[in-house]
Amino acid sequence: MTVTELVSYEAALAGYDPVMGLEVHVELGTKTKMFCGCSTELGAEPNSQTCPTCLGLPGSLPVVNAIGIESAIKIGLALNCEIAEWCRFARKNYFYPDMPKNFQTSQYDEPIAFNGYLDVQLEDGEIFRVEIERAHMEEDTGKSTHVGGATGRIHGASHSLLDYNRAGIPLIEIVTKPIEGAGTRAPEVAKAYVAELRELIKALGVSEARMDKGQMRCDVNLSLRRHGVEKFGTRSETKNVNSLRSVERAARFEIQRHAAVLESGGTIVQETRHFHEDDGSTTSGRIKDNAEDYRYFPEPDLVPVAPAREWVEELRALLPELPRVRRNRLREEWGVSEHDMQSILNAGAVEPIVATIEAGAPADQARKWWMGELARNANESGRALDELPITPAQVARVTALVAAGDLNDKLARQVIEGVLAGEGDPDAVVDRRGLKVVSDEGALGTAVDEAIASNAGVADKIRGGKVAAVGALVGAVMKATRGQADAARVKELILEKLGVTEG
Ligand code: ADP
Ligand code: MG
Ligand code: ZN
Repeated sequence: MTVTELVSYEAALAGYDPVMGLEVHVELGTKTKMFCGCSTELGAEPNSQTCPTCLGLPGSLPVVNAIGIESAIKIGLALNCEIAEWCRFARKNYFYPDMPKNFQTSQYDEPIAFNGYLDVQLEDGEIFRVEIERAHMEEDTGKSTHVGGATGRIHGASHSLLDYNRAGIPLIEIVTKPIEGAGTRAPEVAKAYVAELRELIKALGVSEARMDKGQMRCDVNLSLRRHGVEKFGTRSETKNVNSLRSVERAARFEIQRHAAVLESGGTIVQETRHFHEDDGSTTSGRIKDNAEDYRYFPEPDLVPVAPAREWVEELRALLPELPRVRRNRLREEWGVSEHDMQSILNAGAVEPIVATIEAGAPADQARKWWMGELARNANESGRALDELPITPAQVARVTALVAAGDLNDKLARQVIEGVLAGEGDPDAVVDRRGLKVVSDEGALGTAVDEAIASNAGVADKIRGGKVAAVGALVGAVMKATRGQADAARVKELILEKLGVTEG
């Protein structure tokens, strides 16, 4: 199926309702692996962080990571789930070279958390409830690198390399119930859900949830059914989608592809699919095994997990404010519209602004710099706001200098530029570049006199009552002082000297 054969998005949804299921894997930020003491640190020499347990050597025994369990419970609680009083791990049996044990330790019909929901806010402010089926604990596999082929996939490769450093890193898999009723907004709902989940995970402090680093990845299940039909259609499962935008695009593409297949009288096969960033398409992966094929059975080497109710309640009491609730609170505190808040979110500016306000800046100033000058700089240099070489405290210092009248906006921009260029703290940049506002009244007075003398015509107009013309004189003074004067004070001085009061 090529892109040109797709049915248009609108036509696809004129005849069908999409049903989605999102499976999100989150790599926990624990120091050690789920069932052994090996380090989880990224970037180490391949296979240097392994032991008999995570290599599945005979006779080795797993021990469960308590922080892994605690993180799973926190996630479950934040997703409004019930927490199992007693549950077990299970072996999911299959052979693949990146899984040296020949089974993945996972959970099957006894997940630690189940029956929850997450409310997500769509772009127009509407809340859509996504029901959660379960959140369960499992472990990551190793990483295979296929060498010699053109695509990096196994087909066409001459050989493959295996790194087991990742094998055994704790994962939480969060599975939604079928998401129905989103209609044409299904792709938007998918994206908003993954975005909200990512914020939640970060707020809980259990993972950095960086999708670009593979710490969070999403499988997008999708099927279509004709309007009015109750039975679900056959689903496809697009695996390991690793950005918010891709989640949206994958759902959109699959809607169009399914419609094209169904409209032409074909049938959808239940299979996994690969997503391609370059053109937003998906291609066929493998025919999907059914659960029976995995021969799940309870893991005999691990004790059941039975979290005490007191512990669960303690964790519940410590839950942070939900991201959506916090966002709405901040929006009100900052006095911005839904639309502006959305831009702030998209720019990744929420945390920098919060930190700048905490460092003493007024909210509107913090917002102005992060969404203006700094956003522009980040954009141009292809960095995220929090990767810029300027701290919220430095931005707050610049706003303090502006408030004190030591800098005007134009000079403040130069100070920020200096800090970004590595010239030191704002005060150091001010000193080194000689950027203080000219506040010496004598010097300003002289500059004002000169401006009036060389623009006699304008001065006359102002005397004659055309106060609006004062801008031209202010401009002349600002030019003469190379922008280092306080424009408001200059205007005052000019009007004073011309004996005019603003009315
Ligand atoms: P698997 O392990 O085969 O991927 P899971 O139950 O873990 O199965 O996940 C399947 C996901 O797809 C769940 O989110 C589920 O709600 C959803 N789902 C199930 N059936 C359909 C369907 N026909 N169309 C769309 N989504 C579906
Ligand atoms: Mg799946
Ligand atoms: Zn190990």
